[in-house]
Amino acid sequence: MVGALLLALAIAAPRDDSVSVRVGTRDTSIAIVASAAGPAVSATALFPLVGVRVDAAGPGRFVLTRGDVTVTLVDGAPWAATRTMSFSLAAPPTLRAGALLVPIASLGVLVSRLGGDITWDAERRELTEPRERVPVAAAVAPRASAPSRAAAVPATSALRASNHRVVVDAGHGGPDNGMHGPIGGRITLYEKDITLAVSKQLAAALRSRGLDVVMTRTTDTLIALSDRGRIANQRKGDLFISIHVNAANPHWKSPGAARGFETYFLSEAKTEDERRVAKMENESVRFDGDTDVGKGDPLDFLLTDMLQNEHLRESSDLAAVIQQRLGRMHPGPSRGVKQAGFRVLVTSFMPSVLVEIGFGTNPAEAAFISSPAGQREIADAVADAAVEYLSHYERRTGASATGGRQ
Ligand SMILES: [Zn+2]
Repeated sequence: MVGALLLALAIAAPRDDSVSVRVGTRDTSIAIVASAAGPAVSATALFPLVGVRVDAAGPGRFVLTRGDVTVTLVDGAPWAATRTMSFSLAAPPTLRAGALLVPIASLGVLVSRLGGDITWDAERRELTEPRERVPVAAAVAPRASAPSRAAAVPATSALRASNHRVVVDAGHGGPDNGMHGPIGGRITLYEKDITLAVSKQLAAALRSRGLDVVMTRTTDTLIALSDRGRIANQRKGDLFISIHVNAANPHWKSPGAARGFETYFLSEAKTEDERRVAKMENESVRFDGDTDVGKGDPLDFLLTDMLQNEHLRESSDLAAVIQQRLGRMHPGPSRGVKQAGFRVLVTSFMPSVLVEIGFGTNPAEAAFISSPAGQREIADAVADAAVEYLSHYERRTGASATGGRQ
């Protein structure tokens, strides 16, 4: 009795290990694989069967094309965009070994946006196109080294509708060199040059992931610390990421040996080391000239204010995701998420962090953070962290990072 019932169910229920694709009279099965976002199928295995081209359009970004309709997907992002609008996905696509996995739960909305006569039956897990067709070739280069120009979908417009804008702040600049190193090195590196190069790479990496970017500086100029946050607020950023290079305290036993990366959010410094970094980065204020940070020390007052700030928790979450992502690629040790009273973070009213990408005083680390390849790796890690943070935040609240921006 029970056996017969189970058998009947087995016949009626769709197979749970594959998606069937029916084009005209031809049937094909595509395997369902597990992904971080639930059961999924390979985009390049599935979509070309129903006349949808899949193109890699930069790191973590893919464009589906059917006729004159395009849909841009971003690794880890629970949203997608046509040329004119963005829309939510039930679950984000994810990359595995260069292949894009699209969750079954998101197929319905994608198929409907791609238009035409394709239909998706979620219950039967069946993708149907009434007409016979020759499958289109998938032009996918995993981890595309040369982003496909054919995918002329403007990266920034893709997610502008989702209100995701990241403010990238290259630390120091102009007469403010920041730290210099390495200790005992033959050539001298300046922090302001490394932060600018990494910030430019970060801006490119964020844009390629469909995010809008504002940079506080793009040249070797001085921007007052208080103005950096102001720029971020005026441009209505959702996240503020300040890039810096650490320096060892010369009084340490072997200062040249200090290595590693750390990410700060704004709060009161709790340890001696946090106070050291805050003091070092806040030194820049002496280059700011006669600004409104002149009388007394408004930092304490603002800090008190900021401690109540709703973004404190978010900033510490963002810092944690960045540390985690950097930990996957950085040759140096993780020095953890830290907190201190940075002036540059005081004036920005959004989740804000300051990333010390490594020690410019350590010869090996100075070489890594000043090499274009190292800078690119750091930029990719921080950009992935921003996407991951924004995706999680959206899923938690169903809102944009700042609860809606006009
Ligand atoms: Zn700095």
